[in-house]
Amino acid sequence: MSYTLEINNLCISCDYCRLLCPEKAILRSDQQYNIESWACTGCGLCIEICPVDCIKVATSGKEKE
Ligand code: SF4
Repeated sequence: MSYTLEINNLCISCDYCRLLCPEKAILRSDQQYNIESWACTGCGLCIEICPVDCIKVATSGKEKE
């Protein structure tokens, strides 16, 4: 199963995840953060460091009902 990570609106823009990401997959524009799914390896470091627990795994692609 493929998955991507999403940052929800509880983000406080602390920048920890972007600085920590070994793949540099987290980008900041203005005060918004986005995770480039093509660059993300799913290591989960950003989820661990996020102080407000706002990075979530989102399943992608079609799933059977
Ligand atoms: Fe936002 Fe969490 Fe990243 Fe901090 S670690 S910038 S709160 S997503």
